[in-house]
Amino acid sequence: MNKVLVTGGAGFLGSHLCDRLIARGDEVLCVDNFFTGAKRNVAHLVGRPGFDLLRHDITFPLYVEVERIFNLACPASPVHYQFDPVQTTKTSVHGAINMLGLAKRVRGRILQASTSEVYGDPEIHPQPERYWGRVNPVGIRSCYDEGKRCAETLFFDYQRQHHLDVKVVRIFNTYGPRMHPADGRVVSNFIVQALRGENLTIYGDGSQTRSFCYVDDLVEALLRMMDSEAGFCGPVNLGNPVEFSMLELAEQVLRLVGSASQLVFQPLPSDDPRHRQPDIALARDKLSWEPLVALEDGLKETVAYFRHVLAHG
Ligand code: NAD
Ligand code: UDP
Ligand code: UDP
Repeated sequence: MNKVLVTGGAGFLGSHLCDRLIARGDEVLCVDNFFTGAKRNVAHLVGRPGFDLLRHDITFPLYVEVERIFNLACPASPVHYQFDPVQTTKTSVHGAINMLGLAKRVRGRILQASTSEVYGDPEIHPQPERYWGRVNPVGIRSCYDEGKRCAETLFFDYQRQHHLDVKVVRIFNTYGPRMHPADGRVVSNFIVQALRGENLTIYGDGSQTRSFCYVDDLVEALLRMMDSEAGFCGPVNLGNPVEFSMLELAEQVLRLVGSASQLVFQPLPSDDPRHRQPDIALARDKLSWEPLVALEDGLKETVAYFRHVLAHG
């Protein structure tokens, strides 16, 4: 049994992670400021032995006694991270400093949820960890991309300077139940639009690609990385390497929902990456991990979730 802090624990990925940690008998302190997360995501855990929920913003110091930290706090969808971009950078940078300071004091192991966005709009495809990326430092996505890049820098400097036990994972597009219905990400947008009988909004011509990982696969990888051998810090890519265009995704969603919605084309947001696909050779080798859930199966679960949310609130 470990005492585990999950920052951003009431969010989409964080709440699934809390579920798995509690199920395996860990003690969990879930910390969240509820900016994009919600109490309802962890309501079923409240009152369970070993689970605690604390409202706190990680840009402020936090003094708690834990052994392991999963640092997931940060809005992840463009709509949300661009709402208050300065706060987004603060969450990544001040938040990382505080959580690293905490890990240093308790001599605990700390994992950072970084992102494929550190590769920006990549010239190399698929993206291996050794690729340094092509990121605009002054655009509308920079608060997120550069904040996450700086957080990675901090993690590796705390490791070199203070011999901290750090783990960095770069998460590629992940989807599943408990995504925020209004977060603007493509999977939630398409499913919610299809269920409501609204037009599906394709940004650009829909030929841009993403690789979508189901949440259960991703959480399994987070746990394996946290439990991996000391000295393996990453960064390690986590995602599903099967790549789809947004048109292909729209088609699948319409078919699974059984919707007659039309596609409407809207302008592509600036700095929107053309392609994104993880090279997961390192995760396969070091974590003996690869995604198991096919897009169609994961989408079915996600559609069922949103059907319920739209019907019952
Ligand atoms: P999410 O928005 O559902 O979860 C983020 C959580 O962090 C929310 O509960 C939010 O309220 C909380 N939070 C935000 N700022 C905070 C602060 N200052 N203090 C405390 N809590 C704060 O997003 P998610 O998809 O679950 O993402 C979780 C992590 O994984 C993020 O760090 C994100 O950057 C990373 N990530 C996710 C994806 C993905 O596709 N889902 C891809 C790459 C990286
Ligand atoms: N910190 C924290 N919780 C702790 C220990 C530290 O939030 O248990 C914060 C503290 O506010 C500090 C930051 O982490 O600003 C970085 O800590 P570190 O020890 O690395 O640096 P210093 O305290 O020397 O600035
Ligand atoms: N996208 C889209 N329609 C939407 C929402 C997003 O076509 O309603 C596109 C978006 O332009 C991007 C891709 O889908 O090319 C993935 O967008 P998302 O915001 O989910 O993730 P990210 O761009 O961060 O990978």
